[in-house]
Amino acid sequence: MLKFSRSTYADLRRHGEETYPHECCGILLGTADGDVRTVRATLRCNNTRTDSPENRYNIDPRELVRAQREAHERGLDIVGFYHSHPDHPARWSPTDFEEAHWIGCSYVITSVEQGRAAQTNSFALTGTKEEDKALVEEEILVER
Ligand SMILES: [Zn+2]
Repeated sequence: MLKFSRSTYADLRRHGEETYPHECCGILLGTADGDVRTVRATLRCNNTRTDSPENRYNIDPRELVRAQREAHERGLDIVGFYHSHPDHPARWSPTDFEEAHWIGCSYVITSVEQGRAAQTNSFALTGTKEEDKALVEEEILVER
């Protein structure tokens, strides 16, 4: 399960609207307790893909390092990643699966239809290593 506050959830969805028709991407900082991850902050990243930003995203390794540092300073962990699917369903693509390497993290996808955030889904990357990893849909809980 992935828990959000109302404001972090809204921010993640708004990001996808702002970068439309390109994909947005970002990192989720928070705490993890077993299979329950709680998001405390969203870090917006620049989509470094210039070849096809409509249907690909890539987080700059330097932004990942920055996120790790910020998480450490705040006593948090990287608990997930998010990106948007402009005019496509909120389902992971084969490329999303291939490029997902953080086992135990959540991968959140928001479909943005004609500039408006629609469905948001989260998938937990389960398994123990690259060979047996799987993206499994998980519940999103938005706290009041
Ligand atoms: Zn995707």
